[in-house]
Amino acid sequence: MVTILDGKSVSEKRLELLKEAIGESGLYPRLATVIAGSDPASQMYVRMKHRACERVGIGSVGIEVPGDATTDKVLEAVSRLNRDPDINGILVQLPLPGRVDTERVIAAVDTGKDVDGFHPTSLGLLMSGRPRFAPCTPKGIMTLLAEYHIPVAGARAVVAGRSIDVGRPMAALLTNADATVTICHSKTRNLAAELRQADILVSATGKAHFITPEMVKPGAVVIDVGINQLNGKLVGDVDFEAVKEVASAITPVPGGVGPMTIATLMENTFAAAVMRTP
Ligand code: NDP
Repeated sequence: MVTILDGKSVSEKRLELLKEAIGESGLYPRLATVIAGSDPASQMYVRMKHRACERVGIGSVGIEVPGDATTDKVLEAVSRLNRDPDINGILVQLPLPGRVDTERVIAAVDTGKDVDGFHPTSLGLLMSGRPRFAPCTPKGIMTLLAEYHIPVAGARAVVAGRSIDVGRPMAALLTNADATVTICHSKTRNLAAELRQADILVSATGKAHFITPEMVKPGAVVIDVGINQLNGKLVGDVDFEAVKEVASAITPVPGGVGPMTIATLMENTFAAAVMRTP
């Protein structure tokens, strides 16, 4: 019987625990989001993050920069938040409009407030095995694996995708947890054969129903990061109905990795507030 890795209910449990921890701490952590432009998906993600903040007792501030803003305007907003002692976490919602230099903006975030974990310093610490803030999606996946007692040490893990927000930090976290890790991407030769090696397969390609049963080792744990539209429906990278017949455990889309990402952002924001406390 396949286990459905229920990110929704695990994230609910984590948020409840976090709410208690924040209450007991006497702290009032605050998260600021920066959004540029009016991309509906980005607006929806930011709204969901603000709602989660409210639920656990984290204050939230939303900074909206016009879609035609320059890099300098976005940098100004980040710099104000860096200086604001009442703000513990800064999240710049990506993607930024094309004319904005995303790398400069990410590098401008105070590393002590980098709750998204995309700053080169945060990624460097993660790579060196001493993470401070790890990116929320892969860190949330590690939490989900731990909650279901899925052994990672010694497992062969294969990650499809090498972005800085998901694929690369996922590989680093799995390596730090003693998995043997392969990263695949669009230039990987014989991808199916690589993926079939995986005890833990993480797909973050952004290609709807890309992962089929032939690519999955029987009994593998399959983690689906993808959020894709297919015939007007939200689906993952994994052909869920077919792959659940061969996997031992699998995340659904929606209700798998997505809610874990948001819960982890809340946990990172509280951690940032604790770090700031003398
Ligand atoms: P990117 O587009 O930045 O990266 C996609 C990666 O997949 C690239 O490394 C690319 O390879 C690789 N890839 C694309 N096509 C293939 C292929 N045919 N074979 C092998 N590898 C391929 O996306 P993200 O990492 O940001 O996001 C991936 C997906 O996850 C998206 O659907 C996104 O919406 C979703 N997502 C979900 C989150 C959640 O909370 N659930 C959070 C973040 C993202 P190459 O580098 O060679 O181009």
